[in-house]
Amino acid sequence: MTMDEQAYTGSFPLHTPGKISKASPSDVRRKNRSLIFSLLFPTGQCSRAELGRRTGLSRVAVSDVVNDMLDEGLIRENGFETTTTGKGKRGTLLSIDTSRLRIISIDLSQDNLVQGAVTDLLGLPQQRMEIALGPDIRIGVDTIVQFVDELRSDLDVNRIVGIGICAPGVIDNGVIRASTALGWHDVDLKATLERRFGIPVSITNDVTCAMLTERFFGQAGPNLLFVKNDHGIGSATLIDDVPVVGEHHAGGEIGHISIDPDNGPECPCGKRGCMERLISATALRERMRQVPPSERMGIIRQAGEYLATALAMPVGMLDITDICVYGPADIINNTLLDAAQQQLDRLTASTFHARSVIRRCQCGADITLRGSAVSVVRHYIEEW
Ligand SMILES: [Zn+2]
Repeated sequence: MTMDEQAYTGSFPLHTPGKISKASPSDVRRKNRSLIFSLLFPTGQCSRAELGRRTGLSRVAVSDVVNDMLDEGLIRENGFETTTTGKGKRGTLLSIDTSRLRIISIDLSQDNLVQGAVTDLLGLPQQRMEIALGPDIRIGVDTIVQFVDELRSDLDVNRIVGIGICAPGVIDNGVIRASTALGWHDVDLKATLERRFGIPVSITNDVTCAMLTERFFGQAGPNLLFVKNDHGIGSATLIDDVPVVGEHHAGGEIGHISIDPDNGPECPCGKRGCMERLISATALRERMRQVPPSERMGIIRQAGEYLATALAMPVGMLDITDICVYGPADIINNTLLDAAQQQLDRLTASTFHARSVIRRCQCGADITLRGSAVSVVRHYIEEW
């Protein structure tokens, strides 16, 4: 077996779903690279010897991949191990290099605002830009092109890993199939931007972006149910570190799943009792405005119960114990979370399911912008 044929057979934390092909030597090399990168991403520090131990790859295979990644600017040497090896030699530590490569990340998921940044490989903004839109103004593709152009203007093109766009809606290989918030249908944003800039473009659903930030910079492990609740409500699921996008790329689009089809409030989609009408932050604020203050707590508690009722089935089906909810503090508060937890316990308690915990996401306002940069890194490592 040559070094190139030696491949790790476990799971790849930065794996992009839906790719099945026959392994060639370059595939094996890419997998080894992906694996080593994922052991260091985002904040790991390992020596070459430790990478070898943790991957099962030979010293030569590790060193081959590591040297390429050092040259490329993906990783750097960063001090020495504190303990010595048997031979009395301290290994050089490797970590992600945040100083050289850059990502252009743009977030289209905010209301009336487009935010953009040049970030490092950990998605931390090094330079920011934003455009405020009027209340009824919808963003067009040409505005995004101009925006990328401005963010790119001061950068050395050889240092740009890719452009990441975070967008609400159903996204199929870079084509925004349907986005109610943007008012877009079948917009091939990836092709347009790649033609214009000659840089790889990743377009990722906003809830998936937020979930990736929670996974890599928050408290989540490799299995997670993530719910984003603001003007609408969406979810994303991570299984063994692979986001589940679904057969038609609409996995997580739960806003118009009804949980009270007979008596729930009417929804513009034609049904009654859709999640969005029952428990989105916008809907809840509207309902609370219509009742005396003493009844508002009850509305939030009921929303928590609805949320848990909706999530009980995926929890049972997927055996996920970590449920993270991102949303504004006036809605996703302890009252809602306590009510949701009690309801979930009531619905799911059994001897063969570990207790699932519903918690509030602690990641800050850059959650989607940062996740979009992480998405670029994932694709870069996978498709190299
Ligand atoms: Zn609906």
